[in-house]
Amino acid sequence: MLVNLHTHLEGNVRPATAGALTEKLGLSQPAGGWVDALQLDAPSNLTIYLEKVASTYPLFSDRESLTRITREAVEDAAADGQSYLELRFGPATHTTENFGLDEVIAAVCEGARQGSDASGMPAGVVVAALRLHDSELNEAVARSAARFAGAGVVGFDLAGDELRFAALEPFVGAFGIARAAGLGVTCHAAEAGPASAALEAVTLLGATRIGHGAHLIDDPEALKRIAGDGIVVEVCPTSNWYTGAIGAIAGHPAPAFRAAGVALVLGDDNPRQTGSTLSHEHRVLSDQLGFDAAALADLAETSVRAGFMADSVRRELRAQLAATLAR
Ligand SMILES: [Zn+2]
Repeated sequence: MLVNLHTHLEGNVRPATAGALTEKLGLSQPAGGWVDALQLDAPSNLTIYLEKVASTYPLFSDRESLTRITREAVEDAAADGQSYLELRFGPATHTTENFGLDEVIAAVCEGARQGSDASGMPAGVVVAALRLHDSELNEAVARSAARFAGAGVVGFDLAGDELRFAALEPFVGAFGIARAAGLGVTCHAAEAGPASAALEAVTLLGATRIGHGAHLIDDPEALKRIAGDGIVVEVCPTSNWYTGAIGAIAGHPAPAFRAAGVALVLGDDNPRQTGSTLSHEHRVLSDQLGFDAAALADLAETSVRAGFMADSVRRELRAQLAATLAR
């Protein structure tokens, strides 16, 4: 069963839609076309990777465009064979004078609902605070996300450039607001930064899931604490190769994480940049990283347990998983 617990709305824009929205908004088309503008052609670093993702930001500037992009992302995930999708995005980069945080989040929740209705696949929205924004703005984002708890938004995240903005203290207030609203908490950490960043995300922000955590492999003590505390790591192998977090996909630490007793879930992070959707990431686990049927069953079970979905959705997914495993 394919459960996508780490993917970014901004990394899920169809090239054809990007072209249509560019025209609609009166912007200039990228010189080499949108396929090239979106797709990474070689591994680099997190800063360059994020610049590529950010090329779509100007397309997110009105309700109709955001709803369309989100609906299509959900439909694409369903077409990839996914059973559940958590779609994360940073609303604060998409606001304009006449398009505030609540409206941005409402547009994305509406797109997720439309995509779910059309495809039959449940989807939840995870709102991300961004490292480059100040505390005041991130707390406003958290308050806005909190207003949509139970109405489309299921979780809260911290995303952005971990190399340039490493400290987590500025985000403590925002995460407190999100937790108080009952939102699930995840945090990008130890992707470009050190293993200690993942531990800080747990202790300072209350994260129960860590995005990437690739550098946990450098610190056996930190890895042991993550495993012992039952913190779930969201792995995205192909993305980690493109950001330079790992030197080769076959060298991804997922097997070592599993051997250390860390609970794992899977994501495709930014499929339009990497060219790898969740079904391909699942094959990477089985074909290149040695995940056998038992390991993949554990991954699916952890995903259903650690996803931020409503209990009714969790029950449905549990039943679906039991039927799959009984086959
Ligand atoms: Zn990510």
